[in-house]
Amino acid sequence: MIKYLVASIISFVAVICGLLMHTELFYSFTVSSPTDNPTINWIIDAGHGGEDGGAISITGVPESGINLQIAKKIDYLFGFLGEPTLMLRNEDVSLYDDSATTIREKKVSDLHYRTEITNHNQNATLLSIHQNTFSQPEYSGTQVFYAPTDGSQTLAEQLQCDIQTYLQPNNQRYAKLIYETVYLMNHIDNRAVLLECGFISNPQEEKILQETDYQIKFAMVVTSSCLKQ
Ligand SMILES: [Zn+2]
Repeated sequence: MIKYLVASIISFVAVICGLLMHTELFYSFTVSSPTDNPTINWIIDAGHGGEDGGAISITGVPESGINLQIAKKIDYLFGFLGEPTLMLRNEDVSLYDDSATTIREKKVSDLHYRTEITNHNQNATLLSIHQNTFSQPEYSGTQVFYAPTDGSQTLAEQLQCDIQTYLQPNNQRYAKLIYETVYLMNHIDNRAVLLECGFISNPQEEKILQETDYQIKFAMVVTSSCLKQ
Protein backbone atom coordinates (compact mmCIF):
# COMPACT_ATOMS: atom_id res chain seq x y z
CA MET A 1 0.00 0.00 0.00
CA ILE A 2 2.77 2.42 0.99
CA LYS A 3 4.75 1.43 -2.10
CA TYR A 4 1.70 2.13 -4.25
CA LEU A 5 1.22 5.51 -2.58
CA VAL A 6 4.87 6.47 -3.07
CA ALA A 7 4.71 5.33 -6.70
CA SER A 8 1.58 7.43 -7.23
CA ILE A 9 3.17 10.49 -5.66
CA ILE A 10 6.31 10.02 -7.77
CA SER A 11 4.22 9.67 -10.93
CA PHE A 12 2.27 12.81 -10.11
CA VAL A 13 5.42 14.76 -9.32
CA ALA A 14 6.97 13.48 -12.56
CA VAL A 15 4.08 14.90 -14.54
CA ILE A 16 4.29 18.25 -12.78
CA CYS A 17 8.07 18.39 -13.24
CA GLY A 18 7.65 17.53 -16.89
CA LEU A 19 5.24 20.41 -17.27
CA LEU A 20 7.39 22.89 -15.42
CA MET A 21 10.88 21.97 -16.51
CA HIS A 22 10.62 23.95 -19.74
CA THR A 23 9.51 27.14 -18.03
CA GLU A 24 11.05 29.67 -15.71
CA LEU A 25 8.61 28.44 -13.06
CA PHE A 26 10.72 25.34 -12.50
CA TYR A 27 13.21 27.09 -10.30
CA SER A 28 11.03 29.88 -8.98
CA PHE A 29 9.42 27.81 -6.22
CA THR A 30 12.61 27.47 -4.18
CA VAL A 31 11.49 28.01 -0.59
CA SER A 32 14.84 28.35 1.11
CA SER A 33 17.12 31.21 2.00
CA PRO A 34 20.51 31.12 3.75
CA THR A 35 19.25 32.18 7.18
CA ASP A 36 18.67 30.52 10.54
CA ASN A 37 15.32 28.78 10.65
CA PRO A 38 14.33 26.27 13.35
CA THR A 39 11.68 24.75 11.08
CA ILE A 40 14.10 23.64 8.37
CA ASN A 41 14.02 19.86 7.78
CA TRP A 42 16.61 19.52 5.02
CA ILE A 43 19.78 21.48 4.29
CA ILE A 44 20.91 20.96 0.71
CA ASP A 45 24.57 21.61 0.00
CA ALA A 46 25.55 21.89 -3.66
CA GLY A 47 29.26 21.16 -3.25
CA HIS A 48 31.90 23.70 -4.36
CA GLY A 49 30.91 26.75 -6.50
CA GLY A 50 32.41 29.89 -7.98
CA GLU A 51 36.21 29.79 -8.15
CA ASP A 52 36.12 26.29 -6.64
CA GLY A 53 34.71 24.11 -9.40
CA GLY A 54 35.58 20.86 -7.62
CA ALA A 55 36.40 17.84 -9.77
CA ILE A 56 36.55 18.31 -13.53
CA SER A 57 34.74 15.88 -15.84
CA ILE A 58 36.20 13.91 -18.71
CA THR A 59 34.93 16.63 -21.10
CA GLY A 60 36.08 19.54 -18.91
CA VAL A 61 32.87 20.31 -16.99
CA PRO A 62 33.34 21.30 -13.31
CA GLU A 63 31.28 19.25 -10.84
CA SER A 64 30.04 22.44 -9.12
CA GLY A 65 27.47 23.13 -11.86
CA ILE A 66 26.17 19.54 -11.95
CA ASN A 67 25.95 19.58 -8.15
CA LEU A 68 23.84 22.75 -8.26
CA GLN A 69 21.49 21.42 -10.96
CA ILE A 70 20.79 18.24 -8.95
CA ALA A 71 20.57 20.14 -5.63
CA LYS A 72 17.97 22.53 -7.10
CA LYS A 73 15.82 19.63 -8.25
CA ILE A 74 15.98 17.99 -4.81
CA ASP A 75 15.10 21.35 -3.26
CA TYR A 76 12.19 21.80 -5.64
CA LEU A 77 10.78 18.33 -4.94
CA PHE A 78 11.05 18.75 -1.17
CA GLY A 79 9.31 22.13 -1.49
CA PHE A 80 6.59 20.56 -3.60
CA LEU A 81 6.06 17.88 -0.93
CA GLY A 82 5.82 20.48 1.85
CA GLU A 83 9.25 19.86 3.39
CA PRO A 84 11.04 23.06 4.50
CA THR A 85 14.53 23.26 3.02
CA LEU A 86 17.55 25.49 3.01
CA MET A 87 19.95 25.64 0.05
CA LEU A 88 23.48 26.61 1.12
CA ARG A 89 23.99 28.14 -2.31
CA ASN A 90 21.57 28.84 -5.17
CA GLU A 91 24.07 30.14 -7.70
CA ASP A 92 27.54 29.44 -9.04
CA VAL A 93 29.29 31.18 -6.14
CA SER A 94 31.83 30.44 -3.45
CA LEU A 95 30.59 31.37 0.04
CA TYR A 96 33.62 33.12 1.55
CA ASP A 97 33.61 36.37 3.51
CA ASP A 98 35.32 39.58 2.40
CA SER A 99 38.36 39.10 4.63
CA ALA A 100 39.47 36.04 2.62
CA THR A 101 41.93 36.94 -0.14
CA THR A 102 43.95 33.87 -1.13
CA ILE A 103 42.36 30.80 -2.72
CA ARG A 104 43.16 28.82 0.44
CA GLU A 105 41.52 31.44 2.70
CA LYS A 106 38.46 31.57 0.47
CA LYS A 107 38.08 27.79 0.54
CA VAL A 108 38.40 27.69 4.35
CA SER A 109 35.96 30.59 4.76
CA ASP A 110 33.46 28.88 2.43
CA LEU A 111 33.57 25.61 4.40
CA HIS A 112 33.29 27.45 7.74
CA TYR A 113 30.20 29.28 6.47
CA ARG A 114 28.53 26.04 5.34
CA THR A 115 29.41 24.41 8.67
CA GLU A 116 28.13 27.34 10.74
CA ILE A 117 24.77 27.52 8.94
CA THR A 118 24.33 23.74 9.22
CA ASN A 119 25.12 23.78 12.95
CA HIS A 120 22.58 26.57 13.46
CA ASN A 121 19.88 24.23 12.16
CA GLN A 122 20.59 21.18 14.31
CA ASN A 123 17.27 19.47 13.67
CA ALA A 124 17.78 19.54 9.92
CA THR A 125 19.41 16.76 7.90
CA LEU A 126 22.26 17.77 5.61
CA LEU A 127 22.39 16.40 2.07
CA SER A 128 25.74 17.29 0.48
CA ILE A 129 25.77 16.81 -3.29
CA HIS A 130 29.02 15.99 -5.11
CA GLN A 131 30.37 14.13 -8.15
CA ASN A 132 33.15 11.56 -8.09
CA THR A 133 36.19 11.06 -10.30
CA PHE A 134 38.80 8.32 -10.69
CA SER A 135 41.88 7.88 -12.83
CA GLN A 136 40.35 4.86 -14.62
CA PRO A 137 37.23 5.75 -16.64
CA GLU A 138 35.36 2.44 -16.17
CA TYR A 139 34.31 3.18 -12.58
CA SER A 140 30.71 4.36 -12.18
CA GLY A 141 27.80 4.47 -9.76
CA THR A 142 26.51 6.53 -6.87
CA GLN A 143 28.17 6.14 -3.48
CA VAL A 144 26.60 7.54 -0.34
CA PHE A 145 28.77 8.54 2.62
CA TYR A 146 27.55 9.26 6.15
CA ALA A 147 28.70 11.58 8.91
CA PRO A 148 29.66 10.11 12.33
CA THR A 149 26.39 11.43 13.82
CA ASP A 150 23.10 9.88 14.99
CA GLY A 151 20.92 8.48 12.22
CA SER A 152 23.34 9.25 9.38
CA GLN A 153 24.36 5.65 8.62
CA THR A 154 20.74 4.46 8.46
CA LEU A 155 19.80 7.24 6.04
CA ALA A 156 22.88 6.61 3.89
CA GLU A 157 22.10 2.88 3.66
CA GLN A 158 18.49 3.64 2.73
CA LEU A 159 19.63 6.04 -0.02
CA GLN A 160 22.28 3.64 -1.34
CA CYS A 161 19.71 0.80 -1.45
CA ASP A 162 16.98 2.86 -3.16
CA ILE A 163 19.34 4.36 -5.75
CA GLN A 164 20.52 0.84 -6.63
CA THR A 165 16.97 -0.53 -6.72
CA TYR A 166 15.36 2.20 -8.80
CA LEU A 167 18.21 3.64 -10.88
CA GLN A 168 21.41 1.57 -10.90
CA PRO A 169 20.79 -2.20 -10.68
CA ASN A 170 24.46 -2.98 -11.43
CA ASN A 171 25.79 -0.74 -8.66
CA GLN A 172 27.42 -2.96 -5.97
CA ARG A 173 28.61 -0.16 -3.69
CA TYR A 174 27.94 0.13 0.03
CA ALA A 175 27.28 3.25 2.09
CA LYS A 176 30.52 4.26 3.84
CA LEU A 177 31.64 6.45 6.73
CA ILE A 178 32.89 9.79 5.36
CA TYR A 179 36.66 10.35 5.26
CA GLU A 180 38.07 12.41 8.14
CA THR A 181 39.45 14.91 5.62
CA VAL A 182 35.97 16.14 4.57
CA TYR A 183 35.65 19.21 6.82
CA LEU A 184 31.92 19.96 6.70
CA MET A 185 30.80 16.37 7.36
CA ASN A 186 33.14 16.07 10.36
CA HIS A 187 32.34 19.40 12.05
CA ILE A 188 28.56 19.19 12.41
CA ASP A 189 26.21 17.47 14.84
CA ASN A 190 23.36 17.07 12.35
CA ARG A 191 22.30 13.87 10.68
CA ALA A 192 24.20 14.15 7.40
CA VAL A 193 24.97 12.26 4.20
CA LEU A 194 27.19 13.12 1.25
CA LEU A 195 26.13 11.77 -2.13
CA GLU A 196 28.80 11.20 -4.75
CA CYS A 197 26.09 11.03 -7.41
CA GLY A 198 28.29 9.42 -10.03
CA PHE A 199 31.69 9.38 -11.72
CA ILE A 200 32.22 12.29 -14.09
CA SER A 201 35.42 10.50 -15.19
CA ASN A 202 33.19 7.82 -16.80
CA PRO A 203 32.02 8.92 -20.29
CA GLN A 204 28.51 7.41 -20.10
CA GLU A 205 27.81 8.52 -16.54
CA GLU A 206 29.25 12.00 -17.13
CA LYS A 207 26.76 12.39 -19.99
CA ILE A 208 23.62 11.26 -18.15
CA LEU A 209 24.52 13.20 -14.99
CA GLN A 210 24.09 16.36 -17.07
CA GLU A 211 20.74 15.31 -18.57
CA THR A 212 17.68 16.96 -17.03
CA ASP A 213 15.59 13.77 -17.17
CA TYR A 214 18.20 11.75 -15.26
CA GLN A 215 18.72 14.55 -12.75
CA ILE A 216 14.96 14.63 -12.06
CA LYS A 217 14.82 10.84 -11.63
CA PHE A 218 17.83 10.96 -9.31
CA ALA A 219 16.28 13.79 -7.27
CA MET A 220 13.00 11.87 -7.03
CA VAL A 221 14.67 8.75 -5.68
CA VAL A 222 16.67 10.84 -3.18
CA THR A 223 13.67 12.79 -1.87
CA SER A 224 11.34 9.77 -1.65
CA SER A 225 14.10 7.75 0.06
CA CYS A 226 14.75 10.53 2.59
CA LEU A 227 11.04 10.74 3.40
CA LYS A 228 10.92 7.05 4.33
CA GLN A 229 13.06 7.82 7.39
ZN1 LIG B 1 33.12 17.51 -4.70
